[in-house]
Order: sequence, then C-alpha cells, then structure tokens
Amino acid sequence: MGNWKNKLIAFMYGRYGVDALYYALNTLWIVLWIVGMFTGFWPLTALAWLCLGYMFFRMLSRNIARRRAENDRFLKIWNPIRSFFSLQWRRIKECRTAVYRKCPDCGSMLRLPHRRGKHTAACPRCGRRFDVRILF
Ligand SMILES: [Zn+2]
Repeated sequence: MGNWKNKLIAFMYGRYGVDALYYALNTLWIVLWIVGMFTGFWPLTALAWLCLGYMFFRMLSRNIARRRAENDRFLKIWNPIRSFFSLQWRRIKECRTAVYRKCPDCGSMLRLPHRRGKHTAACPRCGRRFDVRILF
C-alpha cells in the first residue's frame, strides 16, 4: 500500500494537480453526464467526456504557469458569482436577526440588526451616517 502511494507521489511530482477549475469541471461533467443520460441527447454526453478529458489533462499537465493563468481567469468570473449567491443565502438564513444595506457612499455591504422602524446607521469603512428604514 505504501509502495503505491510513493509511486503516485513520484508520478504527480512536477504536475499541476487540482484547483478550483478542476472542481468546477468535475461538477459540470457530472451534471452534463446525468442530464445527457436521462435525455438521451448524445452531444451532452460527448461534452461531458470532453470535460472529463480536459480535467485530467489539466491535472496531469507540467505547464504549471499556463494552468495557473487559466484558473485565475476562471476565478475572476466565478468569485463575483459565488459571493453574490453566498450573500443571498446569508440574507435568507439571517432574515429574522439581520438586514443587509449598501452604504450610499462607498458601496460596501453592511449587516445591521433587524429592528423595525427608522434608524441611523454608520458605515464602519467610510464613517458616513445614513438613514435606514426597516419595514418588516
Ligand atoms: Zn461606507
């Protein structure tokens, strides 16, 4: 068992490995494969196998700088999407205890205690004070 592990470590030495794009491609592969299987639409299944091939190509690649640049380009698109949905999820989870408002001056998102009525909030980032109305 230890021998296999050492062989795998020696094989992967100098290769790129896994990153965020790898996990995204993995998820895309599973989704495309399952949808393609249930609909019987063969181009989806073909695309799924292309995803899998690209995933392994990237993992085993020795051109680390190029793979890292690909991952950076992917993260530049993916991070704003992920943070948007993460904020929406937090808004739903904390809807009884907190409200989220954007500072009119610097645009940063503030998490305020959920108290009905009209209040004044101060932005911790820029110090601007602004009115907040919480209806429900
Ligand atoms: Zn501010």
